[in-house]
Amino acid sequence: MTVTHPLLDLAPLTAAQFASIERRVAALLSTEQDVVITQGEALLPLEGCIRSGARPGSTALNIVTGPYGQTFGNWLRDCGATVVDLEVPFHTAVTAAQVERALAEHPAIDFVSLVHAEAATGNTNPVAEIGEVVRAHGALFYLDAVASIGAEPVLPDAWGVDMCIIGAQKAMGGPAGVSAVSVSARAWERFAANPAAPRRSYLSLLDWKERWIDGGRKTLLHAPAQLEMLALEACVERIEAEGLDAVMARHASAAAATRAGVLALGGGLEPYVHEARDAAPVATTLRSPAGVDASELVARALAADPSLPLIAGGGVLAKEMIRVNHYGVDATPGTVRSSLAALGAALGESGRTVDLEAARRAVTEAWGS
Ligand SMILES: *Cc1c(COP(=O)(O)O)cnc(C)c1O
Repeated sequence: MTVTHPLLDLAPLTAAQFASIERRVAALLSTEQDVVITQGEALLPLEGCIRSGARPGSTALNIVTGPYGQTFGNWLRDCGATVVDLEVPFHTAVTAAQVERALAEHPAIDFVSLVHAEAATGNTNPVAEIGEVVRAHGALFYLDAVASIGAEPVLPDAWGVDMCIIGAQKAMGGPAGVSAVSVSARAWERFAANPAAPRRSYLSLLDWKERWIDGGRKTLLHAPAQLEMLALEACVERIEAEGLDAVMARHASAAAATRAGVLALGGGLEPYVHEARDAAPVATTLRSPAGVDASELVARALAADPSLPLIAGGGVLAKEMIRVNHYGVDATPGTVRSSLAALGAALGESGRTVDLEAARRAVTEAWGS
């Protein structure tokens, strides 16, 4: 006998419902550009846009403010582009003046890739100002907004972003298996003129343009990822119900409260990103005290409460960086207080002097202001 299950036996997702979810995602971006929902984790549109927009003969400025920028550089090189890497230390943000200088030194640059906010390093970059200099130069502007959407404003039209890639799994509090990209008219032209752009491929954006968008969004290219689309719809509904501004304010408060709480806690723990204006609202990174291994500290804190959104930095950062992933449903004063209390207790166990009560008070005060 077959037993029905709530995650199975669903009615097929219609083209109309798919288009309606696309419109609601476009509204989160305040964009008039075409929005394509891509059926895979955000790496799918991130790679698809680079392979569509870059080609042998392209010169790309790849801005590296964390590990994702390094990945983009590798894809760009793989496409045959000449890549100019602009790297800044992970504890800071890139400035529009640095970008302007790089563009002036390399007039051939026709593609600029940037990560808006980096959950992995905790910084956020001034996209509006950078967009102005990229626009003046005339290059295509590619933006990874996976970690910023829902946590801070993401405005591709106002900022002159040609490819703005988002995923639902961070501040949107949604599923990881589906993502989206807004594509400008200029970007579509560049893709169409690129003989190496993926076509008849899962990485292809042109397939969606020609067969879905230009066809009036009537016929899907393949059976849609139904569970992920329903989860994305639920996630957008929940954001609409709370209000996007309120969701972003919650993330800004979580970041400010974590920063203030850490400074009050003491014990040698410090914000990893030096200036508060460069710190991403999506997640706060901390530098562990000299002589304290960050991954061991996180393991001790998680032993006390495994539900906390704490993780050590990736790769070489595992020894010195702690990430407080206060995003989605974890952007609450309670989670920030508990995260700092657990880190404080773990530091206390390793013989450091911490002020748990001062940290609690600082979180509460910073959250409200
Ligand atoms: C999280 C994130 C992604 C998506 O990667 P996952 O590790 O699969 O979640 C892409 N870009 C940035 C900047 C991110 O922070």
